[in-house]
Amino acid sequence: RLNGKRAIVTGSNSGIGLGVAEELARAGAEVVINSFTDRDEDHALAAEMGRRHGVTVRYIAADMSKGAECRALIEKAGGCDILVNNAGIQFVSAIDTFPTDKWDAILAINLSSVFHTTAAALPGMRAKGWGRIVNIASAHGLTASPYKGAYVAAKHGVVGLTKTVGLETAGQGITCNAICPGYVLTPLVEAQIPEQMKVHGMDRETVIREVMLERQPSKTFATTEQIGGTTVWLCSAYAEQVTGTTISLDGGWTAL
Ligand code: NAD
Repeated sequence: RLNGKRAIVTGSNSGIGLGVAEELARAGAEVVINSFTDRDEDHALAAEMGRRHGVTVRYIAADMSKGAECRALIEKAGGCDILVNNAGIQFVSAIDTFPTDKWDAILAINLSSVFHTTAAALPGMRAKGWGRIVNIASAHGLTASPYKGAYVAAKHGVVGLTKTVGLETAGQGITCNAICPGYVLTPLVEAQIPEQMKVHGMDRETVIREVMLERQPSKTFATTEQIGGTTVWLCSAYAEQVTGTTISLDGGWTAL
């Protein structure tokens, strides 16, 4: 159980982050949900999750593309014992026509935010002698695909930063690891399906099986619950000696 632990999950009003927040709340942690919007429905989502699990769940708006806001998120939350860096975006284009603003946004949200939140959270974790940092990287943190240059570069960067933070915190009761999912059916992936159907002239099911899950030998999406459960395990005593490494939930993708 994670009672008495405060968890912050960046980019968590949707998709994987929401699933991870849900599993942390189910395990008894106090949870902070985040995104860049500040709507009533964001706060309602948090309150409803808290009621369901009998824990405090707050929503704190902060834009993970801005370093100062990343650091302010940790401060506004009152620090954290568990930091899950999940916020991420995707853009697909050949490298020679890749828009510079998209490159900058992906590097800022998918990689630099991890630097800023981690830097802000570590002093509090060190003071308590306990902390867990879980970075949601990707199979694209370990391997590449064409046309995803910024995403692949950022996710490889996250894996590298994970190893460094693991070394800098070793022996301090703090671990830092990256989870590397293959394809998970979330809004981010759902949004890619219509374009892929057009490009390949295929129906939805064929695109899912033959294009999206082409490199996922299990031919099955990973789920947000599985990623949440892996996060909870990384926070448990069983995983105390797991640090500076990656855990793949990719149905065999990176074994190919
Ligand atoms: P999603 O689009 O459903 O969720 C992304 C979340 O990030 C949302 O809550 C969104 O509001 C938030 N976000 C976006 N920009 C932000 C910003 N500037 N500041 C704060 N929050 C912001 O996507 P997802 O599929 O759940 O992806 C979550 C993470 O998992 C990403 O880092 C993604 O790269 C990674 N991932 C996803 C898959 C997959 O197949 N879906 C696979 C591997 C890794």
